[in-house]
Amino acid sequence: MLKQRPTELRVGGLTRLSTCDWPGQLAATVFCQGCAWDCPYCHNPGLRPTRAPGQSPVPVAWDSVLAFLSSRRGLLDAVVFSGGEPTLQPVLLEAVGEVRRLGFRVGLHTAGMNPEPLRQLLPSLDWVGLDVKAPFADYARITGVQQSGERALASLRHLLGSGVEYEVRTTWHPALLSLEDLCRLKEELGSLGVTHYVVQRFRFQGARPLLPAVKEFPELQKFTAQCAFSEAFLRFEIR
Ligand code: SF4
Repeated sequence: MLKQRPTELRVGGLTRLSTCDWPGQLAATVFCQGCAWDCPYCHNPGLRPTRAPGQSPVPVAWDSVLAFLSSRRGLLDAVVFSGGEPTLQPVLLEAVGEVRRLGFRVGLHTAGMNPEPLRQLLPSLDWVGLDVKAPFADYARITGVQQSGERALASLRHLLGSGVEYEVRTTWHPALLSLEDLCRLKEELGSLGVTHYVVQRFRFQGARPLLPAVKEFPELQKFTAQCAFSEAFLRFEIR
């Protein structure tokens, strides 16, 4: 049976070279259009609608992405699917397969909102950056969506059970997550078996003006040291 080609993948943008979307890899990043959550710190709010207003149904055609990647074989290590939320797109698995057949390693950025498609995708992935937004019972405060924490927790369990390399990361803004919340989250992640954890400082640039800008987070370093974050994970960093 002929496999479906992923020409329907809704690509909202393409970064041709990134050194930070998958730390340690020279990657191209494919930004998938559409996300079902509404985090105030979102850096890609234009990617939240299923289709970007005023644009053609496929703003960046998948075949043009593939043609670009073909021209970068031997020059790039990897391709990262980011968003938006890539796992909401039914043809993502096929798109990942086409990228793998070009010889690239494949990474995924996900908020874990779609656990079953993520589980099916994991055997085809080399690395996952999973956003964990808050202690799981408090998720709706950030995402605006009830039961979002349950979905993220199920995704995290799939990821940890898969053996795929990963980093779990949390974007921190003091107006959304207190330091005590962050410490509680550390306990939850530690008890689930997370070994690689990153706390990312909120960056105002690119986000909607919903949160106050914070230039420095001096208390974050001190607090994570007091709360023994480094002892709780094999790898912990503040980024
Ligand atoms: S889950 Fe990610 S893409 Fe979706 S709104 Fe939140 S930060 Fe933005």
